[in-house]
Amino acid sequence: MPHHQDIADDAASRSTYECLVCGKIVKAETHPGDCPDCDGEFQNRAMSLE
Ligand SMILES: [Zn+2]
Repeated sequence: MPHHQDIADDAASRSTYECLVCGKIVKAETHPGDCPDCDGEFQNRAMSLE
């Protein structure tokens, strides 16, 4: 098999979240809650990217 792996090991513990309001990118193990810059809502980017 090729060495491509599912998002299982390294990437699994951290997801990328994008602020829906200002576009701030945050990587966190859990949902970061409100954006520290604009108080907006974060969306998990991993869902839509792949
Ligand atoms: Zn924001």
